[in-house]
Amino acid sequence: MQQCYIVRQSYTYGENGDRINPGRVWDFVENIEDTSFDFGIMPRQQFIEKTIRIRLEAAGVKLHSPCKCVNIEKTDEPDADGYYITATLRDMTTREEYTVKSAYLMGADGGRSFVRRHLGVEFEGNTTQDKWIRVDGRVITNLPTPRNYGSIQSANHGNVLWEPLDHGATRIGFVFTEEQERRCNGNLTEEELNTGIHDAVNIGWKLALVVKGKAKPTLLETYSIERRAAAQGLIAFDRKFSTLMPNKWPEDMHKVSYEDINAALADLFDEAQGYNTGLKIAYEPNLVNVVPAKDYTSICVGARAPDAGLFKPGLTAVSTTLNSAGHFRSFFSDTAKLDTIVSADPKLSAEEGLGVPAFGTVYMDDKRQAHSRYGVNLRYGSLVLRLDGHLWFAAELSVAGLEAVKMYLGKFIISKMGIQQKTY
Ligand SMILES: Cc1cc2nc3c(=O)[nH]c(=O)nc-3n(C[C@H](O)[C@H](O)[C@H](O)COP(=O)(O)OP(=O)(O)OC[C@H]3O[C@@H](n4cnc5c(N)ncnc54)[C@H](O)[C@@H]3O)c2cc1C
Repeated sequence: MQQCYIVRQSYTYGENGDRINPGRVWDFVENIEDTSFDFGIMPRQQFIEKTIRIRLEAAGVKLHSPCKCVNIEKTDEPDADGYYITATLRDMTTREEYTVKSAYLMGADGGRSFVRRHLGVEFEGNTTQDKWIRVDGRVITNLPTPRNYGSIQSANHGNVLWEPLDHGATRIGFVFTEEQERRCNGNLTEEELNTGIHDAVNIGWKLALVVKGKAKPTLLETYSIERRAAAQGLIAFDRKFSTLMPNKWPEDMHKVSYEDINAALADLFDEAQGYNTGLKIAYEPNLVNVVPAKDYTSICVGARAPDAGLFKPGLTAVSTTLNSAGHFRSFFSDTAKLDTIVSADPKLSAEEGLGVPAFGTVYMDDKRQAHSRYGVNLRYGSLVLRLDGHLWFAAELSVAGLEAVKMYLGKFIISKMGIQQKTY
């Protein structure tokens, strides 16, 4: 992703242009932990969408666009091919209509979703008369730190957010309230694309496994359970944030505890930084996130598993990170892949380090950072499963532990998905 600008620092300025130290609001970018991507970026949506389109094409996916869903028919019983849904789609270039049959239908068609309205699914949430204004452009400024994140506490427009973008551009964002401009009315809630991507990642692998007949359909129920709770948390944050930005107090915040409304906004940002980075999004126990019998790791199931650098035997440069996407991709092959992480010097062979043959691909954790961050007992080790970036399950590192993992996977996996053991 090169169509964006990497930022690691932030500055806060008061009404008179004086720098406020320590900084507020964006200062979380200076303290991002548990990921090798320890910076902030503000990728513009057009570039994200373009990248996704290129990747889809490279993966051989044919995108039907522009195309509009104009009708949906749903039956209670499947047809001979197992399909419940018939959707009528209109090619918006040729205006020709055609039907597509499917077992599942996903409404990813935006805030005014045709799918949602057609199926009578309620739209939850509320609206505001305040309007978010975002101006993207190249600006001439005397701001001392224009290529860092900034928060400017203005007297008349509340907090103004300053965000460097790609190609030398800058985004300036603030909230226009009814009092400031009576002609403005609108209802824009701040549901960023970040959340949409988390949603897509969450449903993507689940739907793929179910459609391919590799997982039980009950797996799909965990999507709403997990993502609804995350979205509700974000909306609650967003409501407060949008009120504080133009210097108004949200009903459920105690203004008596703050001398300055900007301090309240800063506190709120600190509280919600996990939504901004995505690193503190955690899901409750469910079919996938299963609390183990013992504490084999200090990471809670459902939590976003942290990154930790690992070395391949013999190498001294970090070869992978413990939360890298490769592990997730391997899950889509027919086998759940195992890695063995040995708390030993990278020069050693895995067997020398472990004293016994290793499972799967071997990585060395010579400084024991990964073991320590995951709270894994150095002497006994553990089996830790984290396939979509979140920790699912843990078991003891033994034959009994492997059986526990197989039993766990068997609750939602129905393919011949086994656990591959590489012998050395
Ligand atoms: C002015 C503005 C600037 C923003 N800037 C950013 C930003 O820089 N970064 C960021 O992360 N977020 C940004 N956001 C927020 C972001 O745009 C949304 O959160 C995000 O697009 C929501 O994604 P979505 O997939 O749910 O819906 P959408 O992006 O709205 O996608 C829905 C898709 O469904 C299609 N569709 C609609 N009806 C049908 C139908 N009947 N049949 C078939 N297809 C249909 C639409 O054409 C569209 O392609 C911005 C929002 C606004 C309004």
